[in-house]
Amino acid sequence: MAKEYETVIGLEVHVELATKTKIFCGCSTAFGGDPNTHTCPVCTGMPGSLPVLNKQVLEYAIAVGLATNCDITRYGKFDRKNYFYPDNPQNYQISQLYLPICRNGYVEIETETGTKKVGIHEIHMEEDAGKLIHDEWEDASLVDYNRSGVPLIEIVSEPDMRSAEEVNAYLDKLRLLIQYLGASDCKLQEGSMRADVNLSVREKGATEFGTRTEMKNLNSFRAITHAIEGERERQIALIEDGIGVTQETRRWDDTKGESYAMRSKEDAQDYRYFPDPDLVPIVVSDELLESIRKKQPEFRTEKMARYKEEYDIPEYDIEIITNSKRMADIFEETVALGAQPKKVSNWLMVETLRLLKEKEMDPADLRFSPEHLAKLIELTEKKEINSSVAKEVFEVMFDEDVDPQAYVEEKGLKAVNDEGALRKTIEEVIANNPQAVEDFHNGKEKAIGALVGQTMKAMKGKCDPAQVNSIIRELL
Ligand code: ADP
Ligand code: ZN
Ligand code: MG
Repeated sequence: MAKEYETVIGLEVHVELATKTKIFCGCSTAFGGDPNTHTCPVCTGMPGSLPVLNKQVLEYAIAVGLATNCDITRYGKFDRKNYFYPDNPQNYQISQLYLPICRNGYVEIETETGTKKVGIHEIHMEEDAGKLIHDEWEDASLVDYNRSGVPLIEIVSEPDMRSAEEVNAYLDKLRLLIQYLGASDCKLQEGSMRADVNLSVREKGATEFGTRTEMKNLNSFRAITHAIEGERERQIALIEDGIGVTQETRRWDDTKGESYAMRSKEDAQDYRYFPDPDLVPIVVSDELLESIRKKQPEFRTEKMARYKEEYDIPEYDIEIITNSKRMADIFEETVALGAQPKKVSNWLMVETLRLLKEKEMDPADLRFSPEHLAKLIELTEKKEINSSVAKEVFEVMFDEDVDPQAYVEEKGLKAVNDEGALRKTIEEVIANNPQAVEDFHNGKEKAIGALVGQTMKAMKGKCDPAQVNSIIRELL
């Protein structure tokens, strides 16, 4: 009988923090910008420059630690991880090895099989590297240090996950906690959240872990799932052939559906870590810890419970809306402006989700404002525009956040409330469509749809289909 194997997975997750300035200098973290314009002597590793810790980085790291049930290190340090690479101008990365800011935490994940705790080994703060650009010039590579010194936290899990489903649930849990904290937008696709997957397999029932590999370059939930399945199969085949697994770092190529070896696993000692003598120790006072604890937001579970209490909307809507901090904010602010919760929820659940999918966008990037959504709902409530016009306006709002009132006026989209004009049009439509009229009289209910359609067309959509329908019935 074939042997059964268990997959063992631990993740190292890098999250780019949403601070305005870099971790050890005052340079902007804004994305883009001409190459090397967001730089200074500190983040380009000039001799004599000195780093100073950005307090907001520390506060975000502690907030994430509290949200993941970690112990907060009250006396910590930064360490130098020494290596040469052109995107790393100091020849070392400032990171934390010996006294990371957070330790011994966990998060709870939910999967088909129930609830489970995934241990967090540690969270440490570190700086990002610059970016090499290889294809712009022939025979030369360029380097852009705009990302050098952008603050990161690395969240290292225990090897507690056993399937791609658990990995995705874990990543989603982290994403939500961190987004709710406002500490990062956590977008896998854009690299503000990056996951390295450590994976080994062992025979079911074995007590020791197998040899693991680490896979990098996973920038979507889909790629992660494929990489886990592919690597599991690769390792099982190596074990069954008696070759065994080599501990190494591999790169997953999602288009080929294959991973290939990048380098054999290096050890912490290869980097000659030592405490950074340029930075003072990190002392977390009771006051600081308490003030961060007090500022912890309402997280998703509590928000869901509150929505259930406060708003008369389906549980399914609550799940979707709270699955994005941005969407939950839009929902709450629109309702606070006086719109009916179910109406707001409908706009989010139907048109917003449709457009997000169509444009392959992340809800974190929604641009329309609660003010404008509230106004749009009001316009439809007052029957100043009908539902098809409302959808049309919403599409423009979705892209450009236009003011719906102004837009409707400018484009002449207001519903015509002049019943006389409407009746006249309907009379013409009836006169021009004798076949449909005859069909209707012969009991074909569907024929009325054609007449409503003709009328809407003649009125350029600026009338209420229900009203058209009732006038047609009356006239026939
Ligand atoms: P290193 O110090 O060599 O980077 P760590 O102990 O920090 O190794 O572990 C890195 C990651 O690998 C952690 O997320 C951990 O959970 C995971 N990991 C460790 N051992 C295994 C294993 N045998 N199988 C799968 N994952 C593992
Ligand atoms: Zn700088
Ligand atoms: Mg490690």
